[in-house]
This record gives sequence, C-alpha cells and structure tokens, in this order.
Amino acid sequence: MKLSDAKRLVKNYPDFPKEGIQFKDISPVLENPEAFKALTRSAKQKISALEFNKIVGIDARGFIFGSVLAHVMHKGFIMCRKPGKLPGSLHRASFAYEYAETELGIQAERFSPKDNVLIIDDVLATGGTAKAAGKIVLNAGANLAGFLFIVNLPFLKGIEKLEKTFPGVPVYFVLSY
Ligand code: AMP
Repeated sequence: MKLSDAKRLVKNYPDFPKEGIQFKDISPVLENPEAFKALTRSAKQKISALEFNKIVGIDARGFIFGSVLAHVMHKGFIMCRKPGKLPGSLHRASFAYEYAETELGIQAERFSPKDNVLIIDDVLATGGTAKAAGKIVLNAGANLAGFLFIVNLPFLKGIEKLEKTFPGVPVYFVLSY
C-alpha cells in the first residue's frame, strides 16, 4: 500500500477528548496489515542511517510502533511508562501535554552510559511528552540519538520545542497533517 493511502486511514476526531483537539486515531491503520506495513516500512527508511542501539517507546501507542521497529531492526526496546506501571528505581519527568498533565518514568537499570537511544511515539503534538522522555534518557546518562513519530501535527510546533530543548538531535516523522 502507498503511504498516501495509509495516511487516509488515520481518522480525525474533532473535539476528542476535549473541545478544540483534533484527535488522530491510528486504529484503522493498525487493523489493516498493508497500511500498518506501509507506515512501519517508511519509518524504518527514515531512520536507516541513524546509529542507535535502543528504542524507548512512550506509553502506550509508542509501544506499538517502537516494539515493531525494535524487532525488525534488532534493537533493544525500553518502555517509558505512566505512573504506577513500572517496579524498581525509576528516572522520572513530569510534564503537561496537549490536553492533560502527568509523569513518565523509565527503570534506571535499563540504561548504560554507552546506550544510544531513539525515542518513538505515535503522535507529536505540542512535544511535551517527548521532551519529558528525552530528559529522562539524558538524566539516565545515555545519549539521545533521535526522535521518531508516525504522525506530526506541525501547527502545534512540537518539532520546534524538541529542537530547542535538544539541539542537534534529529526529529523524524512519517505523516504530517
Ligand atoms: P504532546 O505531548 O502534546 O506532543 O502529545 C503527544 C502525546 O499525546 C502522544 O503520546 C499522543 O499519543 C497523544 N496525543 C496528543 N495529541 C494528540 C492528537 N491530536 N491525536 C492523537 N494523539 C494525541
């Protein structure tokens, strides 16, 4: 399937989960094997020249694309999770995102200083979520190799936020609306 056909399957829900939000629902893409493959194939191509050994997927939809790419590219996969989901000692960061405020954490023992980490999520909106994940990776002493998103919402300027916070760290995306 062509990327443009897969793009048409991402459904827009105006005013979900609250007024003013244009929610991009990837569920129809995940349900369609050809569309899912087209998106993961394109994502893999975008990061083919990037050097990294671990992927951090952001809870919860970042796990879907993050774990598939970790599998096909033979990289380690690390979960970046919402509060109360991970045992042990955690590196944490609080943040506000497009429509709520929360905290993310990663198990401290997942990282070594040699790790070169790519962060993956489904949607980049304001960039608050990805910024928190990036800070956790740096606080853990690992190197931040880049960010990858399936969907970018350019009008919310998430890329600008990430580039300002993490100068020189590349930001990749597959679809833009
Ligand atoms: P942000 O921190 O504002 O970049 O928000 C990104 C996170 O919230 C991602 O984990 C997305 O899954 C989710 N999200 C935010 N805005 C949207 C949206 N308009 N459509 C779908 N998911 C969204």
